Amino acid sequence: MLDMGITPGLSQREDTFERKQLSLHDKSPFGAKPYICLNKASNHFGKPVVEEIEITYCNKTKLLIGTFKCSCGFHYSRRETDDTYKIRRIKQFGEIWVERCKYLINDRKYSYRAAARELNVDTNTIIKYSNIRFQVGKLNFHSDVDKTISKMETNKKSWLKLIAENPNISVPS
Ligand SMILES: [Zn+2]
Repeated sequence: MLDMGITPGLSQREDTFERKQLSLHDKSPFGAKPYICLNKASNHFGKPVVEEIEITYCNKTKLLIGTFKCSCGFHYSRRETDDTYKIRRIKQFGEIWVERCKYLINDRKYSYRAAARELNVDTNTIIKYSNIRFQVGKLNFHSDVDKTISKMETNKKSWLKLIAENPNISVPS
């Protein structure tokens, strides 16, 4: 059974959420790992190499969001109802992707549009990243929400139970 006790120093919400996570051991609604990497700049595009997933709940759509974090630095998210190859949002491009983007524009002299097609993003993203000076840490995307439910796998039933019991939990997509 879940221990609903409150640890001094933590807010009730944080404490409850953390304790509930520890009780969830079931498999992910996104299937078993490894998940496919959708980094067009990597040599393992489309291959099942992603070992880390974070699952959040979108209050607006009432759907679970999976964020897939590949060791190549590319992090993307999709909803539980999305096709496996759908990218809902790229949360972090990573160094390999950024270097490829810069290489296509600066060395290969691709047009922004051609590079956008090659890397499967919009031209504004290409313009932004082809001009960026990569600094380790600067491009990382980390939100507090992501951290709270890192490296967890569970099934939807457990999640719906968690959410039903914690109506005030709100996790943005
Ligand atoms: Zn990857």
